[in-house]
Amino acid sequence: MERVVCSFEGGKGPLFVVSAAMHGNETSGIAALKETCEILNHEKKTNPDLKFRGTFAGILGNIQAINKNVRYIENDLNRMWESDFVYDILKEDVNKQMNEVKEMHEIIITLRNYVITGKYNKLYLLDLHTTSSDGIFVICTEDKESKQIAGHLHAPLVRGLLKGISGTTLHYFNKNNLGIEATALAFEGGHHEDPLSVKKNGCRHIQLYEKYWLHRRYGRS
Ligand SMILES: [Zn+2]
Repeated sequence: MERVVCSFEGGKGPLFVVSAAMHGNETSGIAALKETCEILNHEKKTNPDLKFRGTFAGILGNIQAINKNVRYIENDLNRMWESDFVYDILKEDVNKQMNEVKEMHEIIITLRNYVITGKYNKLYLLDLHTTSSDGIFVICTEDKESKQIAGHLHAPLVRGLLKGISGTTLHYFNKNNLGIEATALAFEGGHHEDPLSVKKNGCRHIQLYEKYWLHRRYGRS
């Protein structure tokens, strides 16, 4: 499986990263990414007026766990994003690393390859998940913009959840760790097995892109 499921590039704008299956058994986000790519590519071909600002990059989380349809192999990939830990693993050879450490290292390399182009001054992360219950909700950070965007996603918003846990993507994706301004959110799209979770997950990043960036931040031309 390729780490980058979809990379759709437009004009000047932010880097919008949507990650799916940080937990390997939560695959509806992958299907949502694929659908989004199809929509974007179709739009590009059929709509000459399409103005796309920034880059949309759909990436996979825990590929080894996806292949085994398990949440993780050895460690929960969404509890390992501690600055010091990431810093240390990046000093080692990725080819000699195992399981989730290797996954994390490869994700960082993938993101760095975008960031070092110098094209972006802002990164947005939407981390897609599903749960063992039917509920859908958005998790934001205490960052002002994260809260603001969450309010546009038309789903219940959960705040304070990050205080009880550590090492999630939302804890890591900020300017101190990535070198560029970063705003992160997570979206829980419903039950793991519910086919509608794909639509809900896909819908949210389309919604986020259209309603927030095109209209509010950059203005639609
Ligand atoms: Zn999850």
